[in-house]
Amino acid sequence: MTTTSTNSLEPSPTEPEQNCPLCPRLAAFRAEARTREPTWHNAPVASFGDPNARVLIVGLAPGLQGANRTGRPFTGDYAGDLLYATLLDYGFAKGKYQARPDDGLTLVDCRISNAVRCVPPQNKPLPAEIKTCRTFLAATMATMPKLNSIVLLGRIAHDTTLKALGLKATAAPFAHGAVHEAGNIRLYDSYHCSRYNTNTGVLTPKMFRDVFAQVRKDLS
Ligand code: SF4
Repeated sequence: MTTTSTNSLEPSPTEPEQNCPLCPRLAAFRAEARTREPTWHNAPVASFGDPNARVLIVGLAPGLQGANRTGRPFTGDYAGDLLYATLLDYGFAKGKYQARPDDGLTLVDCRISNAVRCVPPQNKPLPAEIKTCRTFLAATMATMPKLNSIVLLGRIAHDTTLKALGLKATAAPFAHGAVHEAGNIRLYDSYHCSRYNTNTGVLTPKMFRDVFAQVRKDLS
């Protein structure tokens, strides 16, 4: 386990162990995937980016053939194509995104994590799994000393992050483009940049870019 907090005698880990057993259904799904695709990552996907960043992006969970395959958040599937292109455009990343973890892309003042660290069947984690994995999300936020902006991709990321911050979801209802204040942290809501959302027109690249334009504007 990776532990970076220094604020308590028994700090919570920010990253689960590779065989985290806390969600039996997801552990079994991982085990099946290891048998079927032994060259894939098939394990909890660690956060990507500098803990000293001011911006954290919270997604839902690794995609089966995206982060679950490659081991880096949003890397290797459509959602990553849109996310990393947008981050590069707004100065939150540098290098060239090539959909693989060794492409040399680095994040700038930005970190990416997920509400649930293991791939769930049909991209649908259960409420109990979201709650269990919130421990790692909360620890991740707690160990980012300069964190002041969180981009929440979708309602599940929104709701679990609010809970991790000790707030009720009703205190800041999810809506694409909404901005909420949570103490000294500003929360930015966006529909998830999934292929489904873009194919159905729920989210356009412009709508997504506008969220990051707002973050960049507020930071400066
Ligand atoms: S989703 Fe999170 S808590 Fe559940 S098994 Fe994976 S790493 Fe552990």
